[in-house]
Amino acid sequence: MPDRLFGACLCGQFRWSAEGAPDFQGFCHCDHCRRLSGCGHTPFLGFAATKVHLEGRTSSYSDTAQNGGGIQRHFCPTCGSRAYAVPGSAPEVRIFYAGSIGAPDRFAPGFAIHTASAVAWDPAEPLLPSFPGAAPD
Ligand SMILES: [Zn+2]
Ligand SMILES: [Zn+2]
Repeated sequence: MPDRLFGACLCGQFRWSAEGAPDFQGFCHCDHCRRLSGCGHTPFLGFAATKVHLEGRTSSYSDTAQNGGGIQRHFCPTCGSRAYAVPGSAPEVRIFYAGSIGAPDRFAPGFAIHTASAVAWDPAEPLLPSFPGAAPD
């Protein structure tokens, strides 16, 4: 039976699940992740949309990411939690946030991006490969 990860927003109205291991998982230190999270970085993980199941409603915001690309950011309209994001450059990808995983210890970050924007009070994890700008490809 394929492994599945399950996640939910704070109030439980929005739920997601995804099959198998994430295609990528890491930390983002960009300015937008700082404003969105209230923390210096965001732990994120990505899957192909075909492996993902979504339940519940979201509201969304069309953002221009720090690297200049469009990104559609979805939120729970009830509790405001970040739900998922869809990069304009990769509309077949769904990005989730590690804090929403029901078993959060299963998050295993492999890299850090936008470390040039990292703030002194939340520096990039020194043991991870880090990139000053956008994602490694
Ligand atoms: Zn919610
Ligand atoms: Zn970011």
